[in-house]
Amino acid sequence: MGFIPCVEQVGRQRVGGPVILFFGYTGMVDEAKSEAEGKSVMMSAGEERGGKVRRALVLFSGGLDSMLAAELLRRCGVEVRGIVFTTPFFGSSSAERAAAELGLELEIMDITERHLEVVKNPRYGYGKNMNPCIDCHALMVRVAVERLEELGGDFVATGEVLGERPKSQNRQALELVARVSGAGDLLLRPLSARLLPETLPEREGWVERERLLDLSGRSRRRQIKLAEEWGIGDYESPAGGCLLTDTGFSARLRELMSRVPAFDAADAELLKVGRHFWAGSTLIVLGRRHEENLRLVGLAHHADVLLRERDLPGPTALLRAYPRGASPNRRDLKEAARLLGLYGKGKRPLKPSELVEVSRGAEREKEGR
Ligand code: SF4
Repeated sequence: MGFIPCVEQVGRQRVGGPVILFFGYTGMVDEAKSEAEGKSVMMSAGEERGGKVRRALVLFSGGLDSMLAAELLRRCGVEVRGIVFTTPFFGSSSAERAAAELGLELEIMDITERHLEVVKNPRYGYGKNMNPCIDCHALMVRVAVERLEELGGDFVATGEVLGERPKSQNRQALELVARVSGAGDLLLRPLSARLLPETLPEREGWVERERLLDLSGRSRRRQIKLAEEWGIGDYESPAGGCLLTDTGFSARLRELMSRVPAFDAADAELLKVGRHFWAGSTLIVLGRRHEENLRLVGLAHHADVLLRERDLPGPTALLRAYPRGASPNRRDLKEAARLLGLYGKGKRPLKPSELVEVSRGAEREKEGR
């Protein structure tokens, strides 16, 4: 499937009657065309401007800024497609909702492996917590440029607003991301473009610079007004960032990184669940609710051990020994028993003999250890 044509200009009914705007993916144009029952003459934005229709890949988090950036480019006659990335630290649900609201075609790409390298070793350091925002942005833009080439698109755009985030969206940071990502002046920030150096899409006339915006700063007043004007009613309030900006999560991640520098995505996933304790080089995770107990069972690898108290309902414990593949030792099991007892209904330390292994499927529970 190709890029999304511009909302205003993709297909218009040109012969009598009101102008019909076709808004959606390329295939929808044909559907809409048939609805117009041949009365219209289809014209693309490019044809109207007497040139080729240009295609942009927009980094689309699903926040209001990315929605406005995509919509603004459409209004400038550009075919727009969104791209969103997933890792253990952020997902695509907001972007999927927002893309549906806009009728935007969205590509979802898992960049976990490359992103983990950035998290472990960011060239430009971390923010307040374990968020390597400059490197993370640069990676996303780099991947988008790679994808752009595969798709035969023309440029990449983001919804970044100059000065909205003091550390990662100041002038130097925006320039740095454009440079280290390799995007250079193929990277357009439509919401602040008029405050930034001219980019290739502007120089070449693919988008008119005058139609782009000069938003800056932390106030969202102008964005909210634009959303009203453009009929974008359903958008999320700005979020603080991904899980890596969370203090508690970052503390867990720091601990994991110091003990297991080669940790992987499955280890990062485990950081999101339950209470965490370290016994030497073994991580013990206790579920806090029934759903977390089930989640731990789902996250367990073959070398992990799952335990719970034999006689009373209570938390499930997952024991993961490092290096990966090692088995928890007797001391780890004693510690797990102590913790399961303290956080269980009886509120007293247990002995390993008072535990049972939790089955990982339909298998029956195996007695004691
Ligand atoms: S907040 Fe998270 S997702 Fe956003 S740039 Fe920073 S590290 Fe990346």
